[in-house]
Amino acid sequence: MIKKLKKEELKRFEKLLLEERQKILRELEYESDQIAKTQLETSGDLAAYSNHMADQGTETERREITSQIISSRRDTLFEINHALRKIAQGTYGFCERCGKMIPKRRLKFLPQARLCIKCS
Ligand SMILES: [Zn+2]
Repeated sequence: MIKKLKKEELKRFEKLLLEERQKILRELEYESDQIAKTQLETSGDLAAYSNHMADQGTETERREITSQIISSRRDTLFEINHALRKIAQGTYGFCERCGKMIPKRRLKFLPQARLCIKCS
């Protein structure tokens, strides 16, 4: 038996999603700042930079990790926006594969979940 989410429950998930989106946007801003700073340092005093050749490896590694973080945050952001659209369309909470209701427990843990546990 399919039990649709109540209006107030939808509101709660919407709030959760909006909060999560804010958090990610702030984090993304911070990470972009970090990248901009490193780029500034790199293009700055090259002579000073070459003294730190030993650090270059870790620097590149760090930048790679940062860009990985950013891309995974962007993915989450995309999923959150998708979930918010589903709330607006009234399709939120249903599995996109089998059409069954996604358990609330799962939605509380992962409000942007598209699939039920079986389908994911
Ligand atoms: Zn499913």
